[in-house]
Amino acid sequence: MAEPEVNVLRHLPAVAAVLATAEAALLVERHGRVAATEAIRKVIDDARDALRETPSDVPGASELAQQALARLDARTPGLRPLFNLTGVVLHTNLGRAVLAEAAIEAAVEAMRHAVALEYDLTGGTRGERDDHVRDLLCELTGAQDATVVNNNAAAVLLGLNTFALGREAVVSRGELIEIGGAFRMPDIMARAGAQMVEVGTTNRTHAADYRDAFNERTGLVLKVHTSNYRIQGFTAEVGARELAALADAAGVPLLNDLGSGSLVDLSRYGLAREPTVREAVEEGARLVTFSGDKLLGGPQAGFIVGDRALIAQINRNPLKRALRVDKLRLAAIEATLNLYRDPDRLAQRLPTLRFLARDKVDIGAQARRLQPVVAASLGDAFAVEVGECLSQVGSGALPLDTLHSAALLIRPRGSQSELERLNTALRALSRPVVGRIADGALRLDLRCLAETDEALFVATLARLDLHGPAARTP
Ligand SMILES: *Cc1c(COP(=O)(O)O)cnc(C)c1O
Repeated sequence: MAEPEVNVLRHLPAVAAVLATAEAALLVERHGRVAATEAIRKVIDDARDALRETPSDVPGASELAQQALARLDARTPGLRPLFNLTGVVLHTNLGRAVLAEAAIEAAVEAMRHAVALEYDLTGGTRGERDDHVRDLLCELTGAQDATVVNNNAAAVLLGLNTFALGREAVVSRGELIEIGGAFRMPDIMARAGAQMVEVGTTNRTHAADYRDAFNERTGLVLKVHTSNYRIQGFTAEVGARELAALADAAGVPLLNDLGSGSLVDLSRYGLAREPTVREAVEEGARLVTFSGDKLLGGPQAGFIVGDRALIAQINRNPLKRALRVDKLRLAAIEATLNLYRDPDRLAQRLPTLRFLARDKVDIGAQARRLQPVVAASLGDAFAVEVGECLSQVGSGALPLDTLHSAALLIRPRGSQSELERLNTALRALSRPVVGRIADGALRLDLRCLAETDEALFVATLARLDLHGPAARTP
């Protein structure tokens, strides 16, 4: 760097000088002294870098304070809401299920007040936190008992650790799944302290394979729902009912990990059939695990339902304490489960099911309604048309089942790079719009755009800035 510029840099105000300005007073009042000082330090650093690049006027203390204020004011919460127009209803990276109003209200109340979390109001004695949902889970699944943990991965971990610590856990080679986000069955087994015993082959596993593997060291038999793939062709698997009988004969508990699981028959809502938790219990597995925020449509949670004696053993495992859920989620879980007691109104009240069951004609009408408005917001550089598309359930549930849907297909009239620029600008909106680029078009699948959110969607798009700073950075 050229020497003379060093002198210019010496004229940059110090942090203390910027903090002493009237503008900084507002900055401190709004964001606190620590954040204000940090922001001032950063704008001074940036100004120094800029001056080294291109010599120009040195900014004054007030100007730097204003820049710091603008910087902090512009900061938006990382977990701010967005429009999920990806077409994946239960998108793990976008937080999976959107909760029902009843669940939201219950969680808010639990946040705001003291609650009888582990307190028995009848006797005034100590209670158990799972009690709030235990009866509901038993009623909805037909199981004897139930327990709740952080997520389904935790449920499987806890089941393995309780029954197969230092012992063997038997599983079919065709079911050694990996689910997104580093949930690999062999790794979970190892961390649970279980020795994995694989039986059968990738495509075929027979009853005799399990029978041969059982011995006095066997602690648990695992059946895993192959959530995110299917093995097709020359295949054989031992069904849950038969496996339960085999396990019972060997005196070993069978844990059936359903993954998503569902509490209702989804074919009733026009979706493909997914085994229900009640069926899995009825088939004889001693323990059944499933997620709270997949098809069930609640908050993140993992459920283990099954035999009373086994659930009691799980609850005595010290790991249960480390994996338990808090009052917020318990409140939301209880409210969500309650909705299942009235299946006729479930699709109305549970957003996950409402989105999944949405008819393509309805979505198509919405797309035609929004097409001119969106076209106007995007301007001449893009063509917007209504097209058909396929949505997915997501989260490994019903992986091969796609749902006919409608989307706004956006294509650039000019260069293809315009599409990336648009996508970036959409993500930079106050409520980001997240779609998917495929086959040269940005596709906004409207399945998950509630009609009540349409006005907000239109208003948000109206502020689209295709030439803003976010749109320029790749
Ligand atoms: C999704 C899934 C899990 C993990 O459940 P989380 O609730 O995401 O922790 C475990 N097993 C199967 C079969 C799954 O589909």
